[in-house]
This record gives sequence, C-alpha cells and structure tokens, in this order.
Amino acid sequence: MSTNNIFFAINPATNKPLHGEFVNASSKQIDDAVNKATAAFNSYRKKDNQQIANFLEAIADEILNLGDALIEKCNLETALPIARLQGERGRTINQLKLFASVVKEGSWVDARIDTAMPDRVPIPRSDIRQMLIPLGPVVVFGASNFPLAFSVAGGDTASALAAGCPVVFKGHPAHPGTSQMVADAISKAVKKSGMPEGVFSLLYSNSNEVGEALVKHPGIKAVGFTGSFRGGKALFELANSRPEPIPVYAEMGSTNPVFILPRALKEKSKEIASGMVNSISMGVGQFCTNPGLSFVQKSEKTEDFYKLLNTDLSKVSAGTMLTPTILKTYNAGLKNIATFENVEEIAVGLVDNSEGAISRIFKTSMDNFIKNKQLSEENFGPSSVVVEATSKKEILDAARNLEGHLTATIHGTDEDFEEYKELFDILELKVGRILINGYPTGVEVCHAMVHGGPYPATTAPNSTSVGTNAIKRFVRPICFQDYPDAFLPNAIKKENKLNIWRLVNGNLEK
Ligand code: NAP
Repeated sequence: MSTNNIFFAINPATNKPLHGEFVNASSKQIDDAVNKATAAFNSYRKKDNQQIANFLEAIADEILNLGDALIEKCNLETALPIARLQGERGRTINQLKLFASVVKEGSWVDARIDTAMPDRVPIPRSDIRQMLIPLGPVVVFGASNFPLAFSVAGGDTASALAAGCPVVFKGHPAHPGTSQMVADAISKAVKKSGMPEGVFSLLYSNSNEVGEALVKHPGIKAVGFTGSFRGGKALFELANSRPEPIPVYAEMGSTNPVFILPRALKEKSKEIASGMVNSISMGVGQFCTNPGLSFVQKSEKTEDFYKLLNTDLSKVSAGTMLTPTILKTYNAGLKNIATFENVEEIAVGLVDNSEGAISRIFKTSMDNFIKNKQLSEENFGPSSVVVEATSKKEILDAARNLEGHLTATIHGTDEDFEEYKELFDILELKVGRILINGYPTGVEVCHAMVHGGPYPATTAPNSTSVGTNAIKRFVRPICFQDYPDAFLPNAIKKENKLNIWRLVNGNLEK
C-alpha cells in the first residue's frame, strides 16, 4: 500500500496496513548509498581474512540479539509461522558463519602460481600468479518468500561481503520492518568490527524505479537477485544495456520437474503420493523449489496414485500467502490452468479459509502438455500439474524438451534406473541439482550445494546462489606477471603466509 512516496507493510493475515511508514528512496539517497559503497570498497577489500570473518560473525550475533522481536515482526509482515521463521533465522546465521569460516580458511581465492622459467627455450617463462579479487559494490534484491535467509542478511549479502564487496540492498516491499531490523543489526556489526560506513546500506521501495536506478548506477559492479522471472529478466536486460554491462546473478522461478518411473509408482505409490503432497503444499507452496510439474507413465497404477494424491491433499488446509498480490496471482494462475481443455483436477485441499490459497493438483496428457507451453510455467503457490505419458519415449522426449530448472527429481527402483538411464544424462544438462527418490523443497546450505541452473531458472548457469561456491559470483580472476613480491597480495606471495591451498606449477599444495 502506498501514498505517493510512502508505503506501509501489509499484514497478509488481515489485509490491513501495519504500523510504521517507509519512504521510497530518493535519487539522492540512491546516489549517496552507491558513492559510500564505492568509497568503502577501497578499504574493505584490503581487510584481512580474519577481519572480514569477524564482521560476518558479528552480523550473525547481532541478528540473534534482536531476539523474538525480529520473529514477531516478520510473522506479522509475512504470515509465515513462528517455527518456520525461527528455522530460517538459524539458517541465516549459519550461512553467515559458514562464509566466515570459508574466508578465515582463505583458499577460496583459488591462488595459482606458475614460477618463472628463465632458462626455458626457445623463450623463457615469466613468473605468473593468479587469484580472485572482488568486483566492487553489489546491489542485492531479496525475495518475498525468504524474508531472512534470502533477504537483507541472506545468502547474496553474506557471499558478497565475504568476497570483499560492499552491498547496497534493495529492500523487498513485503517485509520492510523486518528488513529495517536486520539492517540495524548489520550497522551495529559494522561499527563493532571497525568496517567502513558504506560497506552496507538498505534502501526501501515498493516500485520498480529504485531497483532500476540501482542497477543502472555506474558505481554498481554486479547484481544479486532472487525473485520472479519477470523481475529477474527485466533487471538482467537493464544491466546488459548499460554503457558498462555488469553480471546479473538472478535466481528466478522453476517448476522443478519430478519423474516418477513405472516400478517406483507400482511399489511405492503411497509413500510417493504423501511425499509429493507434502512438498507441493509445504509453506503454502511458496518455495522456488516447489514441485510444480511431474511426469508419470500411464499404467494400471496411475489412477490409484491420483486417488492417493487426493486423499493426502484433502487434509491440507488453505494457507495465508505472503502478500495479497501473490494470492491474487496464484488464483489467476489456477483459473488459467482450468481453462485448458483436457486438464482435469485430480486433487484438492481443504476449502476451509476463503482468504487462503487452496492446494490443487491437475492432470493432463503429454499431447496437451506439449501443445500448451503455459502448463509448464510456474504458478507460485501450492499447485502442481501431473503429465501422463503413454511410453518411455514420451517421458524421455518430455525431459529433452524441458527448459532450464533449479532441480529435477527421479523416483525409481534400481530396475527403473537401468531402463531409464538416458534420463540421467538428459537431466544433467537441464538443471542445477538432480535428486533421486527425494523431494526438491529444502535446500541445504553447504559446500557442495548448487541452487541455480540453466536459463530461465537463472541468468547465470555457471553459478550457485546457495552454498559456499556462491562467493565466486562476486569476484574476477586477476593475473600478476613478474610482480615484485612485496606488491603481491599475501595469497600469492612467494611465502605461503596464509597457509592456504595453492596450485603451484600444477601441484596443489600448502
Ligand atoms: P519479485 O516480485 O520479482 O520481487 C523481487 C524484488 O525485485 C523486489 O525487491 C522487487 O521490488 C524487485 N523487482 C521486481 N521486478 C522488478 C523490476 N522489473 N525492476 C526493478 N525491480 C524489480 O519476486 P517475489 O515476489 O519476491 O518472489 C516470488 C518469486 O520468486 C517466485 O517466482 C519464486 O519462485 C521466486 N523465488 C526464486 C528463488 C530462487 O532461488 N530461484 C527463491 C525464492 C523465490 P519492487 O516491486 O519494489 O520493484
């Protein structure tokens, strides 16, 4: 809700504005934030590993110090349950601490050293050294559905700060009060750890202009975005049309296809149906990893499977969505699916709250699915489409025709895997993460995680936004040739002062 430049958070449970007004950032505030970030970059990038790690840990501590007040505010602004938000806070804090440990250890800079070969014939080799250095100030956009873990102090902020990049955060209009509290915690950490003032700032807005101005600002050197396909694509195009184009790491929507192979359907239909229903309806379906699409092969078991889906889904209550607009868009998406010919609703959740989102599962034939591209698109919320194939060939063709997604899942027995082994090869080229006999919701924050994938799931298929490898998005390699040792960064000096792993003349050593 906004009146000119002022807007309020809306309580999605009551549809009423909450106390406290927020002002859209002015051009001057945008300029000031980016200029301060640019000034801060000069000193921030020279901080040593321990100082940056301490800063990240201080942010984690200050967020914890906000106590229950943060969870309560967040619950009012998002309608996400308290327990879920407590879990998300834990994840946010662990994420910051994990990046602190990566920075402290130091090997992430990927130091590579090829020592000089003055006697090489016919031409001598120079001393050549490479490492990763930060890009500069980064603008980060968080999503509405993770108000802590993908917001102000979420994964993008943590990885950019860990890489040595100041962050200007464009606050999500769905949770401005939560954003303010977390930004205040970061400000305290900045002071306590002696970091330059402009290393982090938060700007509010509830319209596209502020985000657009930030992406266009010449002082910004990269963009981290989590949100809708429409938003991510618009910002990606804007960044590419700048006089100096910059990388955009946009993590967008996905329908996370699930392939349920015949023997698994025969042997484990009850277990799979209940797992699917749980994954589709969890958090009112408001996860980017929600399984919005699945493929089964028609058999004597498919009708029973649909009945099981309905039995499980019929116990799921209608839930409050993050914002009234998200609910409206979800319901419009359902209406749209229902207008397609040969699309049948096979399962429906409880219709126990007229203001809530009702979970629904539809079924269609492969022919119909191929004809109507819209059936493969994300309808953000607790709905899903099951596509019924008539043969193995149809299943493999469907996989080949998929666009990029964050995840794909295969349910099968050992015999299924043997028979459908081509599917593994096909899916490898389509997604960022493949799961076997699991469910895509729930993204572990760890070293090996990939939360990304080919376009349109993201605008940067060579990256991940979750896990420690996310730090690599905000850096670039630089090479120093025949540099005086005294001028080299510590990571690539002759003496391995930081005791990090380095590739020296092709051998990984400490
Ligand atoms: P959203 O509407 O795209 O908003 C994300 C942020 O971008 C907001 O700050 C929004 O603020 C800004 N924005 C959106 N469009 C813009 C534009 N054209 N120009 C400038 N700024 C723009 O997304 P959301 O509603 O928060 O999240 C729901 C979507 O995110 C779902 O599709 C979900 O699947 C996806 N998601 C993806 C991931 C992932 O990791 N891939 C994770 C969570 C959610 P303003 O409106 O103020 O401009």
